[in-house]
Parts: sequence; C-alpha cells; structure tokens
Amino acid sequence: MHEKCGVVGVSLTERGAARPLYYSIYALQHRGQESAGIVTHDGFQQYAHVETGLVGDAFAAEDLDGLRGSVGIGHVRYPTSGGTDACCAQPFSVSFKSGSLGLAHNGNLVNTDDVRADLEERGHAFTTQGDTEVIAHDLAHNLLESDLVRAVKRTMDRLHGSYSLTIAHDDTVMGVRDPQGNRPLCIGDLGDGYVLASESAAIDTLGGDLVRDVRPGELVVLAEDGSNFDSYQLFSSPRSANCFFEYVYFARPDSVIGGKLVYEVRRELGRRLWAESPVETDVVMPVPDSGRAFASGYAEAANEKPRLDPSGDDGDAGGTTDDEEPRVEFAEGLMKNRYVGRTFIMPTQDERERAVRLKLNPIKSTVEGKSVTVIDDSIVRGTTSTQLVELLKEAGAEEVHVRIGAPPIVAPCYMGIDMASREELIASDRTTEEVRDTIGADSLAYLSIDAIAQSAGRERADLCLGCVTGEYPYDIDDETTDRDVQRPAVGDSAVRAASSDD
Ligand code: AMP
Repeated sequence: MHEKCGVVGVSLTERGAARPLYYSIYALQHRGQESAGIVTHDGFQQYAHVETGLVGDAFAAEDLDGLRGSVGIGHVRYPTSGGTDACCAQPFSVSFKSGSLGLAHNGNLVNTDDVRADLEERGHAFTTQGDTEVIAHDLAHNLLESDLVRAVKRTMDRLHGSYSLTIAHDDTVMGVRDPQGNRPLCIGDLGDGYVLASESAAIDTLGGDLVRDVRPGELVVLAEDGSNFDSYQLFSSPRSANCFFEYVYFARPDSVIGGKLVYEVRRELGRRLWAESPVETDVVMPVPDSGRAFASGYAEAANEKPRLDPSGDDGDAGGTTDDEEPRVEFAEGLMKNRYVGRTFIMPTQDERERAVRLKLNPIKSTVEGKSVTVIDDSIVRGTTSTQLVELLKEAGAEEVHVRIGAPPIVAPCYMGIDMASREELIASDRTTEEVRDTIGADSLAYLSIDAIAQSAGRERADLCLGCVTGEYPYDIDDETTDRDVQRPAVGDSAVRAASSDD
C-alpha cells in the first residue's frame, strides 16, 4: 500500500488539540487528498474522526468540538490510483488491554506481509489491507510486554521500509522516523506545547517555531502536559535515505527540510539546470505551480551568465549590466485553473490528457511567434509535457524547449510515492532523445543527480534515489539495493540533454 501522506501530532498545555490538529493537517493537504483524520485523547478516553475527502470537507465544527483533550494526532492520506479507499483512512485507532493507540503513517513498508502473517499466527485479526494496521497491532502487542520506548524499539526492529509515524498511546504523543529517515518529520515549539509534523509549513501555520528535524531512527516523546519532549535515538544507521523527490516536487516550497528552505533548493536547482543545459530563448516560463521556483532560478542564472555565442567565439563574455535589458524574459505563459485536481490521479490516459488542457491554458501574447523554454519539476508518464508542447505550439510558439528539475524517472517508487509502474514511466525504456521526440519538444534536458545532492546540501549517499537509479535503499523483491552494491552509475553528473538539432 503506497502511503504518501502527511502526519502531525500535538501536545498542548491547556488548549484543546482538535483545532491545532485541524489547521496543521490543512497545511499538509498537498500531501494527501483522499482522506483526513484526527484522533485525540483527554486523559480518559480516545476520540476519533476520520473521513474521506479534503480536510475542509471532512470536518464540521461539531466534529472538532467532539474531539476532546489537549493531545492528539492527525493525518491526510494520499490518493492511490484507482480512487478512494475508505478502509485505509487514518489515523488508525485501536483499543487493547493496556489502553488505546492511534497511529498515523507516512511511508511504505516493504515487509508488511511477513509481519502480518506472523501476527495472524499469534491470533491478531486485521480489518484493512494497509500496513498501518500491521504497525498498530505489532506495537499494541509489544506494549503488553514492555514499556513504551522498548515497545517502539521492538516494533521498529521488525519493520522494514519507509515510515514517519505519529503515535498516540493514550495521552502520550510521539513521533518516529525509520532508521534511514526516508520521509520527513520535524518538531515545532508552540510556546504552550509541542507539535510534530511532516513539514515545517504546518508549524508555521500554528504560529510555532521549527525546533529541528526528527533524526532518522529517533523516537520523540512529547510530555503529556506539553511542557517539553524527550528524545531516544533507537537506531543509528551509517547512511540515510532522504527522498530527493520531497525537495523536487512533494514538499511545500515554504517548508524547511534538513535545514534548507525547499523554495531555495528549487531555485538553486533551476540555476544549476541553466548551468548544465542552457538554451537561449525569448521567454522562460514555469509550468504552474510545480515549475515556478525552478524557472525563476533558471531565468535568474540565464540573465547573469555570459551570453551564449553560437559561433563558439566568446568575445562578449560580460553578464547583464544595470542598463542592459535582461536578455531572457521570465513570464507566465501558462495559466492554471486552480480548481482542477491533480492530473496524476485520473485513472485513464484519455482522462489525464483532457485534464491537462482543463488545467493549463497558454497566454497567447507570451508565446506567439517566440521561442520558449518551459520548466517543470519532473516528467513521470510524460502526459503533461506532451500536452504542453502541443498547447504551446498551437498557441503560436516557434520553438518549445523543455527543462526538467529532476533526473529522468526510470523506476517505480516503493517508498510511498504513487509514481506509476515501470512500463508507464516514459523514461524507463527511452533515451532522453527518444523522450524528447515522444513529447515533441525542440530540446529536452534533465538535471543531474549531483546537482540535486549539492542543492539539497546532502551527500548523494544519503538520498533515496530509487526512482532515478533503479537501486533502492531497502531490500525489495526483484529489485537491487544500493546499500550493499556499488554506487549507481545511472544519471550521475553527465548532463542528460537532447535536442532536435542533435
Ligand atoms: P506526467 O504528466 O505523468 O509526466 O507527470 C508529471 C507532472 O506530474 C509534473 O508536472 C509533476 O509536477 C507532477 N507529479 C510528479 N510526480 C507526481 C506524483 N507522485 N503525484 C502527483 N503529481 C506528480
């Protein structure tokens, strides 16, 4: 079960937890639109409200009033292709002999079947197919035999794969990241309590301050009265596996991950995209909204850099001076209909293609008679870029050059991003030149993996690059792991560019 989600947890001194939880999952809505849920505890009993749909639709004021207590957790669930799946809405909650448990999960386990089979043999019955229920049962089982910290450690010992969890055991709220820290999770100080959240934008929404990221393999336990938190480093792994796609696409640009503002990382990626594969056109434009930060960095770098001289004679190597017009115009060439959902989740290819046209419409005056560079974060199936090139050409663009702020996506994600199967990925069996040809662009260039690592301020070895290398940080059946084999040779600093003139 692919669970690319948003999780939160709060413990407050005096205020009720329901509204802060509601606002913080609202802030994480981009991480999941299929369902939303909150579980709270008032020291006596657990309260839960979980619904399919968007946060704003899932809760009425009375629902929030009914979620009593000053501690709790919340969750938004990512849509899996194929529609809604009410059984797996979260937080998952259970009551057992030594209390109640609520669990919110972001990530994807790779050994769910084994753990489930083992628990079933011991008499546990499951009501969903999701891996969150498996984690909840395993933890409940361990809590019967040991204290909280040992129980969490024992459960972590059994789980393989990617997980950032917020957990409410009665009125104790905690957060944990898998030993390689695949999915983000951070701690915020609210003044009258603490919050755990997938992204710091949720802390900002509550008016709090980011304290730090939860470390890979760390358990953070919030005090029941919201006065402080305790940290237990339960596992230490020599390498982490931070998902690079969080920086490129998934996280909000106003979130800070690993000490870096995602917006600045994306702008830097845009600058490096220009450095690696410049093309001088009349206009640089983003695919709204995912390409915006990349395009602004790209255009900025284009206007700083020496003019490209097609003759190869770089006599005039000066950058733009004050009295010189910027030589590349940065403009909005595409308007987005903000009421259209993500094209990605449309079940059929035909619907996906129609949805791109519904979602994006060219601004004729920006593109007509011009050569344009259009910038997006990623190409997955190629639907968006194919349609865009066609739309821009129909609107009168003379040339359309595509620049992408990520390397080619060549393999599926097993760590929680619903990325399509290998066969559906346009770059899985095509060279960059073939992808260019398929999408109909005049030129196409992707970004190198090294540029991603440098812009994110991470060692390449500390990133999960499974979808761009096909080598994964966790053992997955029929796939190779990059943790005990040579470092990948795919998609490294060689610039992957293709042009119709090649
Ligand atoms: P595609 O049209 O299949 O090539 O998808 C690429 C577009 O979808 C890009 O504009 C991305 O911003 C967006 N995208 C990339 N990955 C995802 C994802 N996992 N879920 C939803 N949208 C995505």
